[in-house]
Amino acid sequence: MSNTQFQKETLAIHEGYVRDSQQTMSVPIYQSTAYAFDNSNQAGARFALQELGNIYSRLTNPTNEVLEKRLASLEGGASGVVSASGSAAIFYSIANVAGAGDNIIVADKIYGGSTNLFAHTIKRFGIEARVFCVDDISTLEPLIDSKTKAIFFESLSNPQIAIAPIEEITQIAKKHGIITICDNTVATPILCNPIKWGVDVVVHSLSKYASGQGSTIAGGIIDRDGLNDFIKNNPRYEHFNTPDPSYHGLVYTDVDLPIFNLRIRTALLRDIGATLSPFNAWLVLQGIETLKIRIYEHSHNAYKIAQFLKSHQNVHSVSYPGLVDNPYHTLSKKYFKEGLCSGLVSFEINGDFQKAKEICDQTKIFSIVVNIGDTKSLIVHPASTTHSQLSQTDLNKVGILPNTIRLSVGLENVDDLIDDLHKALDF
Ligand SMILES: *Cc1c(COP(=O)(O)O)cnc(C)c1O
Repeated sequence: MSNTQFQKETLAIHEGYVRDSQQTMSVPIYQSTAYAFDNSNQAGARFALQELGNIYSRLTNPTNEVLEKRLASLEGGASGVVSASGSAAIFYSIANVAGAGDNIIVADKIYGGSTNLFAHTIKRFGIEARVFCVDDISTLEPLIDSKTKAIFFESLSNPQIAIAPIEEITQIAKKHGIITICDNTVATPILCNPIKWGVDVVVHSLSKYASGQGSTIAGGIIDRDGLNDFIKNNPRYEHFNTPDPSYHGLVYTDVDLPIFNLRIRTALLRDIGATLSPFNAWLVLQGIETLKIRIYEHSHNAYKIAQFLKSHQNVHSVSYPGLVDNPYHTLSKKYFKEGLCSGLVSFEINGDFQKAKEICDQTKIFSIVVNIGDTKSLIVHPASTTHSQLSQTDLNKVGILPNTIRLSVGLENVDDLIDDLHKALDF
């Protein structure tokens, strides 16, 4: 089934899967390292990309391919590639465009793991990450130069719960011929489609809401239709426009396939190999089938909890873009389906570092976990865990205070959750 006329709920359940002669309703798990060729000519044609097909599971796998097609359709993109983790997806999306001597521009409010990747790991590869303030778009353009290869940001950021002005960012990027990469993990393709607002490449940690039950690590990359034309003859992306010596002189822009993801597969998955296991792809497929109803319910529960917290005497402030007085409320109405804002809520208590830790210990339903996007409700005190390595100044910069608590609101009964927080906040 491949038809873009269908709505997301339908695509999430059917897209990309064609039943074989066994007629299994559940997508089969193709647990195979490699694939046989009919004859030597076919083997040669596959390696030359003259015939598309499976060679070896580091590159492609039929179970993973169903997930790749499903993700691409849900994001309204041209193609998908899945990877062993969200972090691998982000690294590949950057390594696909930037090399030693280049720079990328990244938003200040992003996932801690991505901050580390950009500030330390890619720096050792000679790629500089320049940071712009996502709340002040005027800080972006001055950072651009001829060596800028990508602009990276999150649609709804984890853990600060900030929403990016996606359209403004992509307009600036287009003016300069720069590829934009948007991490859409927290919003999910159900609530937000960055490609619709001009983004070139969407990346996901599928470990969170997409799989949804905290059972696997997985990642994905989706590129947009028309990105080939943007890359063709674009001086920033010379390596797509000149013969690739590692691929017998292939010039990517001569190929009539979505070349951003093609190169991730043929060069980066081939050489670095953070490939998703087909079993984990299958787990994510199970999750995506119910993603719509889950993300709606996560959002509704989170909104009710945000409202409860706001009215509580021991709570100083609450961050949730669904609240009308939140600074990102207008952006949430513009970019997010029905203004729904996913399941992350953060708040500051009227108390100190120690008190915030105690509250986490007091809750009975919320588990102290650094993950997000599980059916189970999770609570964390960032200053003593995920962000404990940061200095006070850096904590302030990323919007984490000693008394900040972050929730990933799950799918339990919301009154039970409110009751749990109510008791924990009774001090
Ligand atoms: C978790 C997360 C990642 C990293 O994904 P993994 O699957 O854990 O590697 C990247 N971006 C965001 C926004 C995340 O929440």
